[in-house]
Amino acid sequence: MRYGDGSMPSYIIWPLSWQEIEMSHELVKVLIDDDLEEIENPVWHLVDPTNAGGPATLCSGEFFGYGESQVEYELKVVARGGITCGWCMRDLKTLKSIRL
Ligand SMILES: [Zn+2]
Repeated sequence: MRYGDGSMPSYIIWPLSWQEIEMSHELVKVLIDDDLEEIENPVWHLVDPTNAGGPATLCSGEFFGYGESQVEYELKVVARGGITCGWCMRDLKTLKSIRL
């Protein structure tokens, strides 16, 4: 499904189990960016679960949704994997490498 900006979609996360939903993450594919440029070969970014400012990609912090911008995008929720953005993967690996 494709969404224009201005509202957040209510998506169906079935058929994930409750356990999978708890551990799931959200992905966004930006189709048209802030400058109204159509993205060639769009990739799936991780929606940064730590960004308190609103829905944003992990790698660039670009906001989408809630009328923040002109961005057009697709969203999906997955139990694991699915990130095809190399920058998001790099950032995620960097975070995971921090030992607690
Ligand atoms: Zn990314």
